[in-house]
Parts: sequence; structure tokens; C-alpha cells
Amino acid sequence: MRIGHGFDAHRFEMGRRLILAGVEVPYSMGLQAHSDGDVIIHALCDALLGAAALSDIGHYFPDNQAIFRNIDSRILLRRVMDLLHARHYQVVNADITVLAEAPKLAPYRQAMCVNLAEDMKLTIEQINIKATTTEGMGYIGRKEGMAAFAVVLLNSA
Ligand code: MG
Repeated sequence: MRIGHGFDAHRFEMGRRLILAGVEVPYSMGLQAHSDGDVIIHALCDALLGAAALSDIGHYFPDNQAIFRNIDSRILLRRVMDLLHARHYQVVNADITVLAEAPKLAPYRQAMCVNLAEDMKLTIEQINIKATTTEGMGYIGRKEGMAAFAVVLLNSA
């Protein structure tokens, strides 16, 4: 078995859609990024790549390449899963923590888990997403942006 950890953070920006684990969450701001800014999927991809010792998301999808501009991060997640499957890794489970002062994510958590399970070819029980605030402290607390942590466990067949 192999464990992997991922972290990502993005700044809020007016006039962008907020996309988290492929779900559009209604909010006054979205996340600034070259891609769609899906902070959950980016942290998850880095955890998956980390567990497999396959570098990081920026290695495969550089943010200076036009083809990745505003790209749906679910496409990136599926490509990362292809890399893992090619090496005969299976995901045991993924646990994700989102840091955000706002908006409240609980109403969207189920839809997010469904998307990730679909892209990773897993059951919903293998994925957990939880959200927390930082009690008003730091850049999360000031609503400057959002961050996410992900931990995954892989089985090598
Ligand atoms: Mg990112």
C-alpha cells in the first residue's frame, strides 16, 4: 500500500464561476486559475500522483500551456487515474478537507462525491469530502481564497 498527500489553494476572483469537484457552487466569486480553478480536484490529483511517486499536477499539465486554459479539471483527474491504472494502482480511498470561510459547501458535498467517484471509477463509500472554516483566521478567514487537502491510499495489484 502507498499513501499520498496533496494541497492546493486558489485566490477568489470576481466574475468567475466557482467549480468544486466538478460542481458549480453558487457564490459571488470563483477561483483564479489557468484551469477552472477546481481546488479540490487539484489537491486530489497531487495526492494520487504523490502516492504513485509520479511527480505533481504541474508536471503533466503546465499552467503556461494554452491547451489547459480554463480546462475542466475533471479531465485532468481522469488522466491522472489513467496514469495510475497503467501502473496497476488501485485507489483504496480518498479523504479531502476543504478550507473555506464561505460559501457553505454541505449542500453540494454529495454531488461532488458522485463526480469524483465517477471519474475515479470508485464507489461513493471510497470518497469523503469535508469542509471547515478557519474561524476567521488568515487568508481563508479573510475570504481571500480557498484551499484543500487530500489524502489517498493506493493498493498496488
Ligand atoms: Mg490549483
